[in-house]
Amino acid sequence: MNNIDNIINYLNGSNDFIVTSHINPDGDNIGSTLSMYYFLKNLNKRVYYVLDDSAPLNLQFLVNDINRISSQEFKEMNINDYNLVALDCGDKNRICLDDNIMSNCNKLINIDHHDSNDLYGDYYYVVKDASSTCELVYNLLKRNEEITKVKTIDEKIATCLYTGLMTDTGKLTYSNTQASSFDMAKNLLLAGADTQLVVQSVFGSNPFNFYKLLGEALNSLEITNIKIATMCVTQDMLKRTGVDFKDTDGVTPYARDIENVEIGILLKEKGNNEIKVSLRSKSYADVSKIAKVFGGGGHIRAAGCTIYDTIENAKEKIIQEALKEI
Ligand code: AMP
Ligand code: MN
Ligand code: MN
Repeated sequence: MNNIDNIINYLNGSNDFIVTSHINPDGDNIGSTLSMYYFLKNLNKRVYYVLDDSAPLNLQFLVNDINRISSQEFKEMNINDYNLVALDCGDKNRICLDDNIMSNCNKLINIDHHDSNDLYGDYYYVVKDASSTCELVYNLLKRNEEITKVKTIDEKIATCLYTGLMTDTGKLTYSNTQASSFDMAKNLLLAGADTQLVVQSVFGSNPFNFYKLLGEALNSLEITNIKIATMCVTQDMLKRTGVDFKDTDGVTPYARDIENVEIGILLKEKGNNEIKVSLRSKSYADVSKIAKVFGGGGHIRAAGCTIYDTIENAKEKIIQEALKEI
């Protein structure tokens, strides 16, 4: 049931938790997971951060003093009695840990803001037009403060929540930004969020090599029918510039932010015939529809999918679908 109070009661009344999120961690993923982690730790719960993927460089500052473990490491601990809190995961298949860890949990709690969320789990708190999962965690913690009369959002939690808010809203500029998002930003600042640490780390610390990669990616820019821009990041580019695949998210907005372009598409070669596609739109195109054609999902203005083909074929296929949305 979509009831924030039931989730708060459940979290307060149980003792052992896994917190987790989706593959290819972004700021909202890590911000929401770690704010939940610290919240539960502050309640003296046993909490495990299980995720079979690692943080990009620009989000390392959040995970530095946290012990992230893999599914395998969790299994070796032989813990049988636990609940699973999945944050920022649009569907069950995107939860980035082993299926049997998921199926053996007592209760699955789904906190998310993806349009494609099918309300899986024993408890869910899903608001599809929320700016970020961090905004939902923020609502939950504020409500916890109201119910328990105990200050819940400390500096660390505020910093985590601020990160997800800034990354999913493009620093409060995208159309998913609501009045409540500005309120949240203000209240997090008052609660002691290190806002400069967040923006300097996330947006202002690109390694020099990143710009070399960006240059190569910009060289691959192509425009179709004025409104569609595509860009590519190939394995060769990654090798030449020494940039890791997980540190390429900063390239994505460049395709969208071109005059007259409505849909920006970044195709990234993750492996042989495995193309991760990031789709962004500016004002009217629903890119989640395009992503869904290829088994992906996301939001109206930001979505993703993986196409198993060569990068050239993937580009052709995605452009054909994008043309239907402009
Ligand atoms: P990205 O392009 O990876 O930054 O993702 C943009 C948005 O789409 C994020 O909200 C992702 O969680 C979502 N997304 C990306 N890839 C997928 C996928 N394969 N399936 C469902 N949602 C996705
Ligand atoms: Mn995310
Ligand atoms: Mn999100």
